[in-house]
Amino acid sequence: MSTLRFHAIKETFNRPVIDVEEPARRSDIFGKNVFNDAAMRQYLTKDSFKSVQDAIVNGSKIDRSVADHISTGMKEWAISKGATHYTHWFQPLTGTTAEKHDAFFETTEDGAIEKFGGGQLVQQEPDASSFPNGGIRNTFEARGYTAWDPTSPAFIYGTTLCIPTVFVSYTGEALDNKTPLLRALQSIDTAATAVAKYFDKSVTKVNPTLGWEQEYFLIDKALAKSRPDINLAGRTLLGHSSAKGQQLDDHYFGSIPKRALDYMRDLETECMLLGIPVKTRHNEVAPNQFELAPIFEETNLAVDHNSLLMDVMSKVADRHNFKVLFHEKPFAGINGSGKHNNWSLATSTGVNLLSPGTTPMKNLQFLTFFINTIKAVNEYEELLRSAIAGASNDHRLGANEAPPAIISVFIGSQLTNVLDALEKVKNGKLSPEDKTDLKLNVVGKIPEILLDNTDRNRTSPFAFTGNKFEFRAVGSTANCAKPMTVLNAIVAKQLMEFKTQVDALIKDKKMKKDDAMFNVLREYIKDSKRIRFEGDGYGEAWEKEAKKRGLSNNKTTPIALREQVSKKTIKLYEDLGIMSKVEVEARHEIEVEEYAMHIQIEGRVLGDIARNHVIPTAIKYQNILIENVQGLKDIYGKDFKKFASEQMRLIEAISAHIENINKDITSMIDARKKANKIEDGEKRAILYCDEVKPFFETIRYHCDKLELLVDDELWPLTKYRELLFTR
Ligand code: ADP
Ligand code: MG
Repeated sequence: MSTLRFHAIKETFNRPVIDVEEPARRSDIFGKNVFNDAAMRQYLTKDSFKSVQDAIVNGSKIDRSVADHISTGMKEWAISKGATHYTHWFQPLTGTTAEKHDAFFETTEDGAIEKFGGGQLVQQEPDASSFPNGGIRNTFEARGYTAWDPTSPAFIYGTTLCIPTVFVSYTGEALDNKTPLLRALQSIDTAATAVAKYFDKSVTKVNPTLGWEQEYFLIDKALAKSRPDINLAGRTLLGHSSAKGQQLDDHYFGSIPKRALDYMRDLETECMLLGIPVKTRHNEVAPNQFELAPIFEETNLAVDHNSLLMDVMSKVADRHNFKVLFHEKPFAGINGSGKHNNWSLATSTGVNLLSPGTTPMKNLQFLTFFINTIKAVNEYEELLRSAIAGASNDHRLGANEAPPAIISVFIGSQLTNVLDALEKVKNGKLSPEDKTDLKLNVVGKIPEILLDNTDRNRTSPFAFTGNKFEFRAVGSTANCAKPMTVLNAIVAKQLMEFKTQVDALIKDKKMKKDDAMFNVLREYIKDSKRIRFEGDGYGEAWEKEAKKRGLSNNKTTPIALREQVSKKTIKLYEDLGIMSKVEVEARHEIEVEEYAMHIQIEGRVLGDIARNHVIPTAIKYQNILIENVQGLKDIYGKDFKKFASEQMRLIEAISAHIENINKDITSMIDARKKANKIEDGEKRAILYCDEVKPFFETIRYHCDKLELLVDDELWPLTKYRELLFTR
């Protein structure tokens, strides 16, 4: 019996039921391990508390002596909760989170104490040399440091106090995903607040909101471990599809299997303690695929919470003998996973700017932000596409289960009618009658038509869903900071332009405020028509149509990433103070390199499995067949073929598959060698994409055919049916 696979399967038969304790009321434990306002009030002096609040709301600097008070309060709070260590918690450009724990414990002349000073809270110097930096650190010969981000509260996980921080080089270049995000959030706050003041002077701040939906697979730990491809690449590189997959649509929204539900209950309790407001859980389309979604939050916090969640999910899964697969396409032939990013803008006065209101003016406010967002996406569709590029998301985009690689905006038929009507608003000042008509028949009607009446189009990458936009093309492994940086930056830029144009009309053409807005919005509607698409995003017809419209269709990562370093992008980031050219180029270098390494690793793993697992197994089985044929010959002499012809056909088929696999592996290795010799990162990535990756499919094809031929008892790799239907 082929060892690892059957051992693993056997292990799954004896899985114990894991005890899960849940509080009767989640609200009782929500945020218990977070240094939130309540904890701060208890552990900080009034002045320190005010200083942190000031830093959160106004971005003001925290005085060093105040920092000492804050750190002491934070430490006392953490120790009271059983923490022994602290860490600066950050998001380097690997896409995951990083932490290095230090004990509070310190020795003194006469013994030891627990200490945590202001300096340790505010700034640390992790050895940054092993994090991706795209050459920034070499260029500047600077070390990196982490700096406290007070807008995301500290929390305790396990026995460690985690302090969310940014990670930058000594010369100030961002080495993480959070820094540009914070800068983009600041830009959109400034830009959106200025525009929101047209409608309500009392608005002082606009916070973008984010509600992500995390999809994932839960696979039994032993089964996952038995597969080298899942271990090393996070996905299956081969494996014949299971006879039953998702054809019956019997998993989606079905009753959640008990073992998975126990895991979710446990996970959600951890989330509650950490202040992650998880709300929704359900089965997804594919077998053993699930989704989890929180209540939306302010974007910086929501991004941190998603990163933290992914880490917590893996840890809790281990306790339940599961492995979580975050990969966008862990299994061929069934749905992959995404991470919809629901996005909107909230004012300091508690108004959702993408939600229609009860008065014509409020609806004009809604239309202003709505149309500006569409215009921004129209101008920067290619950059938005690049923000979600990555080797693993390439499998999903355009695979008829996820949006295509073409970015378009879906708004539904009702709002399409509204925009069509606004497009006809006449040039220049509007007469009182025109305005009454507009307000009564167009603008005033919006809330009615949207009430429970928003269309749904699951094939659109960027859809308006009633009171928010939903960016659906984001991959399940993504750090939301990347798409959120781009989205908030482009809308910020757009709103600034809008403000300038409206102000100019008011000043130069003596227009009334609302006349000016209608005039500018009309032009925006005309300008951004090409990005609006209400049809089937999966169809081939759309690809053709999109090409006609001049929309980009960058199907692979190396090509999609180019837009990140275009003149237009660099100008955008520089104008807004989000990233310098050096930072932008460093990121591009890191991403193309990461892409090439991804494909390189997958190629190596596939080569190893195919040559060292599949071929030897096929030969073993072929030998059994040969023995059988030989035996039949011994018994039946020259008539043996009557009984052995099928076996002989199998022997030949196996040889043919082996030959193809071996030949393709050799060619794939040659292609890798050729790619590795190339100095230029982008060119190397393109070669990996165009010349190495295509072998994955052909090698897999023959391996999967062999899986169908070879004796199940001999097959060493845990099969799809076992991975997907073990619950
Ligand atoms: P679905 O898209 O699955 O139909 P919903 O429309 O109910 O589900 O919402 C999905 C997600 O949208 C949730 O995570 C929710 O928190 C988020 N969401 C709702 N309103 C907003 C908003 N104003 N800003 C950001 N996210 C939001
Ligand atoms: Mg959704």
